[in-house]
Amino acid sequence: MAKHNCAICGAEVGLMSEQKLADGSYICRKVCSKKTFKNFDKISATLGDVTAHIAQIEKGTRIWNELLLPLKKSKNKDEKLKIFGVGGPLLYVSPSTGLMALVETRYKIFIFGKSELACVYRIADLVQYDYEEETVKNSDGKMEKKEFCAMVFKDTTGMHSFRLEMANSKSYESAAKYFDTLFGIQRTLGNSFKNAKRQLDAIKSVANTVKAAANGTLDEAQAAETVDAVGAYLQGDRTQWIAKADAALAPYNQ
Ligand SMILES: [Zn+2]
Repeated sequence: MAKHNCAICGAEVGLMSEQKLADGSYICRKVCSKKTFKNFDKISATLGDVTAHIAQIEKGTRIWNELLLPLKKSKNKDEKLKIFGVGGPLLYVSPSTGLMALVETRYKIFIFGKSELACVYRIADLVQYDYEEETVKNSDGKMEKKEFCAMVFKDTTGMHSFRLEMANSKSYESAAKYFDTLFGIQRTLGNSFKNAKRQLDAIKSVANTVKAAANGTLDEAQAAETVDAVGAYLQGDRTQWIAKADAALAPYNQ
C-alpha cells in the first residue's frame, strides 16, 4: 500500500489517515485536516487553498477574541453583534467595526470547556447571499430538508464562500433583508429616493455608452464607468463599510 507524507507537517499517512487534495497532494487527518473548518471544501481545495485557509483562521481567531468577542457582551446598542445561523458555525455581524465572523465551536471531550475558531470577513466584501435548500437523510433514516444562506466574499483569500445553515426560509429572508438594508439595496418597488437616483445614474451611464458605441467614440474609460455605475446599483453603497473595516483591521494588517 502506498504511503504518503502530509504536505504540511510531514507525518507519514496511509489510506485511513490521509486526505487527498485537488492538486494531488495529501494532508494528515489527525492534525492538519482538523485545522480547517468543517464546512471548508477540502476535496476541491489545493494545498495553497488549505494553507491560506489555516492562516485565515489564525488571524480571524485573534481578531474574534480581541475585537469582536468583547462586543458580544456590549451594553451599547450600536456595538451589538447580530447573530445568524443554526446548528453548525454561527455568523456574527458587527456593524460598528464593518466586520463579520464565522465562528466554529470545538468541544473538548476530556477537558471541560470549549474553544472557538473564527474566519473574519469585511462586510463590504459580501457579494452574494442566496437561498439554497437540500434534502438529506438524517440519523433516523428520514429525509430532512436543510436550508442555507450561500455566502460569497470577493477579494478574500482562504475560505471565500460557505453555506450557513438557517432554521427555515423565514430566517433566511430576515438575514437577506438585513444585508440588503446594510447596503441600501431596495429589492421591492416603491424605491427610496437614494435608490431611485442610483438606478437613474446607472441607466444614464448605459445610455451614454450605447450612444458612444453607435457613434464609434466608445473608449475604455467610459465602458469602465458604466460597469461601475451598474455595479454600484446592484451592490448598493459600501463606502462606510469599507472605511470601518479598514480602520478596525489596520492593527492586524501590519
Ligand atoms: Zn499534517
